[in-house]
Amino acid sequence: MPYVVTEQCIKCKYTDCVEVCPVDCFYEGDNMLVIHPDECIDCGVCEPECPAEAILPDTDGRAEEWLEMNRQYAAAWPNLNRKKAAPADADAFKGVPDKFKTYFSDKPGSGN
Ligand code: SF4
Ligand code: SF4
Repeated sequence: MPYVVTEQCIKCKYTDCVEVCPVDCFYEGDNMLVIHPDECIDCGVCEPECPAEAILPDTDGRAEEWLEMNRQYAAAWPNLNRKKAAPADADAFKGVPDKFKTYFSDKPGSGN
């Protein structure tokens, strides 16, 4: 029962979440992070750390559509376990709806 990152992370990418994860299971794309569902131990400590409220438990109905996407890109993107500076315009994208359609990038981030 892992936690998942939803589209609310896109272009926010504050990375507060990675600092608290005990098993370093966040992976970095160009403009969002994902959680590896097989590595997440369901501890929940990352959820309240996210300023964009982008992290949900997979028991939440809104999480289901993001689970396979998290699995797919966790396998393709580099690990990130250290906080980095958020994009300069991160606050402007907080809470913007339907970010996946418009802004998702499948390119990897730079990782640790
Ligand atoms: S804290 Fe939230 S917005 Fe920031 S990288 Fe983590 S999931 Fe994305
Ligand atoms: S729920 Fe725990 S193990 Fe899973 S991603 Fe969040 S901090 Fe890491």
